[in-house]
Amino acid sequence: MALEEKREKRPPVTPMMIEEEAALRNGSRGLTPGPWAEAAGPRPRTTERHIAVHKRLVLGFAVSILALLAVTMIAVLLSVRFEECGAAADGPPRASGNGSLSGAARQPPGAGQPHGRPEEEARGGEAAEEEEEEEEEEWQRRQELPLWARPRLPRHLRPLHYNLMLSAFMENFTFSGEVNVQLEVRNASRYIVLHAHRMHIEAVRVAEDKLAGGVRVARTFFYPQTQVFVVVLNRSLEVQRSYNLKIIYNALIENELLGFFRSSYVLHGERRFLAVTQFSPTHARKAFPCFDEPIYKATFKISIRHQATYLSLSNMPVETSVFEEDGWVTDHFSQTPLMSTYYLAWAVCNFTYRETVTKSGVVVRLYARPDAIRRGSGDYALNITRSLIEFYEDYFKVPYSLPKLDLLAVPKHPYAAMENWGLSVFVEQRILLDPSISSILYLLDVTMVIVHELCHQWFGDLVTPVWWEDVWLKEGFAHYFEFVGTDYLYPGWNMEKQRFLTDVLHEVMLLDGLASSHPVSQEVQQATDIDRVFDWIAYKKGAALIRMLANFMGHSVFQMGLQDYLTIHKYGNAARNDLWNTLSKALKRVGKSVNIQEVMDQWTLQMGYPVITILGNETTDNIIVISQERFVYDSDAKPKDPSRGDNSYLWQIPLTIAVGNTSHISSEAIIWVSNKSEHHRIPAFEEASWLLGNINQTGYFRVNYDIRNWRLLINQLTRNHEVISVSNRAGLIDDAFNLARAGYLPQNIPLEIIRYLSEEKDFLPWHAASRALYPLDKLLDRTENYNIFNEYILRQVASMYLKLGWPMNNLNKSLVQASYQHEELRREVIMLACSFGNKHCHQQAATLISDWISSNRNRIPLNVRDIVYCTGVSLMDEDVWEFIWMKFHSTTAVSEKKILLEALTCSDDRNLLNRLLNLSLNSEVVLDQDAIDVIIHVARNPHGRDLAWKFFREKWKILNARYGEALFMNSKLVSGVTEFLNTEGELRELKNFIKSYEGGAAVSFSRAVETVEANVRWQRLYKEELFQWLRKSLTH
Ligand SMILES: [Zn+2]
Repeated sequence: MALEEKREKRPPVTPMMIEEEAALRNGSRGLTPGPWAEAAGPRPRTTERHIAVHKRLVLGFAVSILALLAVTMIAVLLSVRFEECGAAADGPPRASGNGSLSGAARQPPGAGQPHGRPEEEARGGEAAEEEEEEEEEEWQRRQELPLWARPRLPRHLRPLHYNLMLSAFMENFTFSGEVNVQLEVRNASRYIVLHAHRMHIEAVRVAEDKLAGGVRVARTFFYPQTQVFVVVLNRSLEVQRSYNLKIIYNALIENELLGFFRSSYVLHGERRFLAVTQFSPTHARKAFPCFDEPIYKATFKISIRHQATYLSLSNMPVETSVFEEDGWVTDHFSQTPLMSTYYLAWAVCNFTYRETVTKSGVVVRLYARPDAIRRGSGDYALNITRSLIEFYEDYFKVPYSLPKLDLLAVPKHPYAAMENWGLSVFVEQRILLDPSISSILYLLDVTMVIVHELCHQWFGDLVTPVWWEDVWLKEGFAHYFEFVGTDYLYPGWNMEKQRFLTDVLHEVMLLDGLASSHPVSQEVQQATDIDRVFDWIAYKKGAALIRMLANFMGHSVFQMGLQDYLTIHKYGNAARNDLWNTLSKALKRVGKSVNIQEVMDQWTLQMGYPVITILGNETTDNIIVISQERFVYDSDAKPKDPSRGDNSYLWQIPLTIAVGNTSHISSEAIIWVSNKSEHHRIPAFEEASWLLGNINQTGYFRVNYDIRNWRLLINQLTRNHEVISVSNRAGLIDDAFNLARAGYLPQNIPLEIIRYLSEEKDFLPWHAASRALYPLDKLLDRTENYNIFNEYILRQVASMYLKLGWPMNNLNKSLVQASYQHEELRREVIMLACSFGNKHCHQQAATLISDWISSNRNRIPLNVRDIVYCTGVSLMDEDVWEFIWMKFHSTTAVSEKKILLEALTCSDDRNLLNRLLNLSLNSEVVLDQDAIDVIIHVARNPHGRDLAWKFFREKWKILNARYGEALFMNSKLVSGVTEFLNTEGELRELKNFIKSYEGGAAVSFSRAVETVEANVRWQRLYKEELFQWLRKSLTH
């Protein structure tokens, strides 16, 4: 699924804003049977793959059968004892159990804390199997817990196939269901334990081998602590036999955005409802009883009964529709291939669609509310989806697996999109696009979310991680491919080589440079923690590591390796070691021997990243000294893991290095650095030569040099910056600012580097500079001497601002044809100029706003509208704020609505900011997902920072209740509101606040404290040094 993309937008005066978006995928409806029989890949239960997996499973478990038998016996004994004292507070409720249909079991409220760490289970991957012995021991250690109290499902049963029949009652938002699960028994047991949460179970029946008689159900109960439902039988299920478990249940179509939930929109003045699912990562259990862990792949046959005024959609096309006389219809969908529960999906709505077909015959439809379809707002997404399916099929050499792909645009969704196989769901702002009023940035966002979700149809849906600790495997790939896939659509944009640096690499190194970071592979303890692993470290660090890997392997070998990986593991699960093994083999085939697992384990299992220091100034005989240490912003911060100091962190680093002089740079050489400090010989090293490390910034680390080398690099940039590549120019800027912020480098070095920008005609270095300046600006924006800093930046920007000028109104031009690089550069420079107070820029913005108000025609160029709105609101009087507020209410275009709302946060007027904060929690005025952005953007405004911080503390209970379950939103809010606090007083307030509230968001708060401590430390140690240099520099 796609979280929020951080693509920065700096509003003028209150410098930059970073826009965040989240993405999940949507799906479409297959009303016609479609060519599934011909077009489909191997059907799950008849493939060789399946048989192989099945054999391996049997073999894998054979070794441990004796142990398991013993364990099961003990577990049974213990659980009997447990049942006997079942009257205890959190014991399972007793339910009547006579006859084969058991009585109703209603889930008691509240959930406790399951104990222990999760069991590993791997049935898809070879490497995962090797770990089985170790897991077995761990499993045995936990044998004292009853089967239902373990954080992971017990392994004695496996679902093979689900038949799911649902009836959706849209008039009262309830649904009823009947699920029939075909179970394979691996170890005999009297217990069936599967996930079920927030539902009412009416009846349970177990039948042996379908035709044979029923097995009596003794009783059933919910165990809410682990969100499971337990069926206790009067005798054991026998090994190697299969049973059918039938459960009849009902539940609410929820109002919260998880599980099977509802939302609404207004069409022709009338409110219409729709119901859709969001199961990832652990919410399928709210919609039907199931084995809700990714390893339990099964086939699904779904039927949905609904009023004929609605239509229904699911992963597969509709096979038949049966109409009833009373105005109801039942859609029977084709059977799915083997898949996990988290990307199963369905929807009931009255949307319309447009359709296209790929070369290979995949039917692609975009479903949205009828007015959006009529306007053609979905056409862009539909068209690029067709191209992208063709791109992925060619790149991976594995065809898309289903006969159709539906993209569903919904008004409300907890993420930007979700990659449900064949039915991906998108929030409208991430997929609908009206070219006449959308900026390039908006188009880029829409594009990348779609590229991301389509990648998941292979990475995630076809091959699924074994367990959530490796969620970065699917998310890292999907995020990396956002750039590769966008390059396919727009070859001139150079996304993977350029924009990746600022949007992913630089962005995540900020986070991962905190001592409170965590490894990209994270152990997950329990269901309620699983949401936590979907964070920027998993997405962005995952992507950055994959890019580093692709570069040191070579792109074509990397691509071959991925093709093998997908082919070997399709319709199954794989762990990271399965990927490493496949890639190592691909390298071997081209005659290279690198143990990828050994290298990558250091990057995925250790948190943080190294800073490499290259010392060349005392070079004799062309020998340089290269050392590595862990990079941290605040060296005083307490290490998260006290058992290992920063000194124990070591990485195997593929360092590329080149030597340059005034007019020439050598070709790069790769040096594997694996020790604390190493000596290396560099060829042809002359007196005035400089060294440059991490060529094109393909590595996930920073590089520092001795001051002499930094000076040589600065001279080079000033004289002829083109000797150094665009991506390295951006990299030098980002490294220098961050090394200085952490105290590794004098404060003046980064400020000296950006002097060359007046000659820089490429977008990326400007972009890197303005992103790096942003946190520095926030550290200074409330200080007495801020204007010195402001003045210095304005000087660097002035000449390029004059050179580039303002864009013409481009309403009549096709956005896609526009020169992306040039337009983005101009936008960046205008943003810096307006943000730091360039007078001409301010006047221009004010003129454009006045023209809009007086003529009531918006002639502001699309690509700078956010900058102009924000500048206007901040400089002009309250009437402009009211005007923008009115426009925010009246516009229906989602992209425009969002930038109007953000512009309102730019005001200098504290009363208006307070008014906006209070309105932000009114769901009728501001969408839930946008309220967070309002609060964060007010916190970025120096006039509003304390207001947002106060508002956040006062409303924490409400906010936490609203966003608590979508942890990503919560942590975004916590970091957004606190990251620019930087005084001792604010740090005290933060610590007191954390002390005074109870529970929730603990990880986000510890990160917040470390960030604010680092800010305060920087102020204490380096602020004066910076101002002194600026003062000197401005008087010269
Ligand atoms: Zn994703």
